Amino acid sequence: MAYNDSPPYSEPRQTNRPQTLPGEKIMAEVELVFLGTGGGRFATITQKRRTGGIRFLSKGLNMHLDPGPGALVYSLEAGLNPQRIMAVLVSHRHPDHYTNAEILIEAMTRGMLKKRGIVAAPHSVLFGNEETGPAISRYHQQIPEKVIEVKPGVVFHVGDTRIVATEARHTDLDAVGFRFETPEVGDIGYTSDTEYFEGVGKAYEGVRLLILCVMRPSGNPWMGHMTPEDAIKIVEKVKPEMAVATHFGMKMIFSGPNREVKLIKEKTGVPTLAASDGMRLRIGEKIRVERAKRKQRGLEEYLKRS
Ligand SMILES: [Zn+2]
Ligand SMILES: [Zn+2]
Repeated sequence: MAYNDSPPYSEPRQTNRPQTLPGEKIMAEVELVFLGTGGGRFATITQKRRTGGIRFLSKGLNMHLDPGPGALVYSLEAGLNPQRIMAVLVSHRHPDHYTNAEILIEAMTRGMLKKRGIVAAPHSVLFGNEETGPAISRYHQQIPEKVIEVKPGVVFHVGDTRIVATEARHTDLDAVGFRFETPEVGDIGYTSDTEYFEGVGKAYEGVRLLILCVMRPSGNPWMGHMTPEDAIKIVEKVKPEMAVATHFGMKMIFSGPNREVKLIKEKTGVPTLAASDGMRLRIGEKIRVERAKRKQRGLEEYLKRS
């Protein structure tokens, strides 16, 4: 068989802090690592922005959300051991959200040798639809401890965090967003890819941090996606402590996410950031932002030239 099943399993060396040294933190904290901030076909195939999704880390949590292309590689590059993941969440069946799901499941299940972890994804991802097959093979769905089919309103737990699937209106009709209710630091919302619709904000009321997939720039709407104007309506309704725009498409990248996102902050009064690759948000009593400083050579040089 093609899979490396040779024991013993050995843990790679760890370099990141909260994940590897639980109990050392004095104040409870949830850390979000943006392993990608790009979205849509051309941002993905050119990797103008990475598309690895978001890692959630706390003392009781290690979870990967929307593992697009790059999730495994950038996870390892960031010193985040994918074998420690407890759950893989996929919001819908588009490649910028699911392509690394299977390999992260292999990491989570220690090379498919250990029944371990949770996979949560909508019907289209688990079973396919009229147009597509499943995005996660039956083989990969057999080894995790639990596979949860999510649709809006479905509630499940990963560690001590309660998670509610929320409604998204997107070209994958099964797409969902998520609301994460952490006991440590309160609630975090993630819209995933959705267009604006009346009541979209309701599911995120009371969250401290709202992550919005704002793929298109201002004045450039696209079916199933958000522009800053749409994000403004949601942020106005939700009034989180902080909003973060991510999942930038090519037009958004060329327009300049920082400039685009400024509009949201100005109109709503809510501190709003444009996410950047490698950015970490540390959510404790306050929400602290750490931007990645180190420029990656090699791959990035290659991508710039090509
Ligand atoms: Zn997307
Ligand atoms: Zn999508």
